[in-house]
Amino acid sequence: MPPGGFEPPTARSSAGRSPAELRRRAIVIIYAGGLRFNAGEYSMVVRVLIQPISWFSPELLWRVEDILANMFDGASFIVSSDVILPPLTSFNWLRRQYYSPLILKYVYEKTYDIIMNEHIYVICLGDIDAYSDNLNFVFGEAAPSLNVACVYTRRLKIPGQTQYIPRDLYLDRIIKEIIHEWGHLLGLTHCTNKRCVMSFSNSVIDVDEKTPFFCEKCRNILLHRYGIVQRNILD
Ligand SMILES: [Zn+2]
Ligand SMILES: [Zn+2]
Repeated sequence: MPPGGFEPPTARSSAGRSPAELRRRAIVIIYAGGLRFNAGEYSMVVRVLIQPISWFSPELLWRVEDILANMFDGASFIVSSDVILPPLTSFNWLRRQYYSPLILKYVYEKTYDIIMNEHIYVICLGDIDAYSDNLNFVFGEAAPSLNVACVYTRRLKIPGQTQYIPRDLYLDRIIKEIIHEWGHLLGLTHCTNKRCVMSFSNSVIDVDEKTPFFCEKCRNILLHRYGIVQRNILD
């Protein structure tokens, strides 16, 4: 220890950590690349990486991160500045849609290290149209066994027929669908409360009818399992 008892931050940050722990930190810092955080500092909260799989405006991504970060205690959200493009093998040329399960698997393989070592949930965000088994299209899909979910925003821009969508409505829909898929990753199933964010949405009308908030029943599950608290609640 230097004179005066002052220990430089660099010495303190690595002292007392096991080699495995240091390795985990290194993996995240290396993977992070363009990320603006050191995941090692958030060991007590649930970590969520929002992973773009298509281009979005930086302003929209910043607002997504800001809204989510301010909405929950016990969870930390970060938007990756890297884009993981879905493989062309996941594109069905006849349907002109992406096959969602293949994208989930692909992103899981790409982010395997951080999912395994840092217990991060990955939620992809793609301005593409996707379908899944027995479903013509999906706004999103979650694979809880992989810790990966996807939200597909292309159809969140189309309300029924054709009409101009205000930017904030598009953002609201994206936020609701991200929280919905994250809820699935945390073990929640569809909720019968139509205003609860875990309510199933068959159309954008359903998306607009629900709120971005968990109902009391869903809230209690998140609190007791993960210590997650949503700051604003349904009245
Ligand atoms: Zn769902
Ligand atoms: Zn609910």
